[in-house]
Amino acid sequence: MRCPKCNYLKSSVVDSRQAEEGNTIRRRRECENCHTRFTTFERIEELPLLVIKKDGTREQFSRDKIFNGIIRSAQKRPVSSSAIEKVVNDIEQKIRSDYDSEVSSVVIGNLVMDELAELDEITYVRFASVYRSFKDVDEIEALLQQITNRVRSKKKSTLDETD
Ligand SMILES: [Zn+2]
Repeated sequence: MRCPKCNYLKSSVVDSRQAEEGNTIRRRRECENCHTRFTTFERIEELPLLVIKKDGTREQFSRDKIFNGIIRSAQKRPVSSSAIEKVVNDIEQKIRSDYDSEVSSVVIGNLVMDELAELDEITYVRFASVYRSFKDVDEIEALLQQITNRVRSKKKSTLDETD
């Protein structure tokens, strides 16, 4: 790392600390020639992840897009933004560990729905209705039936635990 003042190439690290919740290391360096101090940042290189859309085109994976989609579905629901943040983190982590460089938007949509089903049923239905863009009433009915079953089995398991 070249000294910004004298261009000398050797410097020593005088301080090192984490920044941005551990995603970045901030280093204080001192030039071995003129003793000027300067700061460098080290971060993990994020490999580009592409999303294959339904029409076959690709776009850059976007956390914001998922986050905003969920926020919209969670309006006036008791769902905190930190809970949504966690959902997005879990999804991104799963995608990055399971897929190298490309992932289908269908896979992402299904992951989001799995997470939302656990988080809040209403948010789940709203997201699903936008995401799946239902063709007819039968599809909505089928989805509602799934949710009803899920809620019932959840209630049943809670009852079983208290027995
Ligand atoms: Zn220097």
